Amino acid sequence: MSVDITLINKLLAAQNIMVLTGAGISKESGLSTFRDSDGYWSQYDPTKLASLDGFLADPLLVWKWYYERKQKAIAANPNAGHLSLVEMERLFKNFHLFTQNVDNLHRRAGSVNLYELHGNIFHSHCLNCGIKYNDDFVITDKVPICDICGGMIRPSVVWFGEQLPSDILKVAFEYANKCDVFFTIGTSSEVYPAAQLPFIAKDKGAFIIEINPNPTSFSPTADLSIRNPASEALTEIIHLYKQVRGI
Ligand SMILES: [Zn+2]
Repeated sequence: MSVDITLINKLLAAQNIMVLTGAGISKESGLSTFRDSDGYWSQYDPTKLASLDGFLADPLLVWKWYYERKQKAIAANPNAGHLSLVEMERLFKNFHLFTQNVDNLHRRAGSVNLYELHGNIFHSHCLNCGIKYNDDFVITDKVPICDICGGMIRPSVVWFGEQLPSDILKVAFEYANKCDVFFTIGTSSEVYPAAQLPFIAKDKGAFIIEINPNPTSFSPTADLSIRNPASEALTEIIHLYKQVRGI
């Protein structure tokens, strides 16, 4: 663990703090990642389950997979990593959390300044007319159909080959450009454009902390790499920060 006073001083001086999380933080809640050796993409074909072409070819297969993932997400609980980020939002005045996760755990933990770059597995919308559904569909043998137009309803997550929501992406680039401290947590740093964000922050002079048990392609660029799970690393950072501030 390399949490020391350098990081705490950066936090004390920071006007804006930005965080980017990936599947690694939810792994501690028992949810699978995608790109680890035991992740989803080692067992499943992402072009079948997480692309528009895959959905059009076999929508029921895709819905069943998302239904199963939703059940797992409901059964999981936010862990100390998610909860630490909620506490950081209270401790720091300009704190913005961007996540690539669609599992709703940050929201359930209580994060408010939260931006879901890849959507949310519990939201869906009509492929045809776009109307939104906050679904609690039980998927057995039918694809959910839009009440308004009869089109197929799809999960509101960003699939391969699709653009990230432009409004959220715009805010993400804005904060990456102006933050003083940037945390990249539990992300493989392989999925663009999210993976670009810490590089932008670094170019603008921000102090970058990577928290990931494993090295990533971003590691050589980080100012500080903490090779621990997010729950341990963030708990220690908060503890030391409070100690220094006497709170
Ligand atoms: Zn519709």
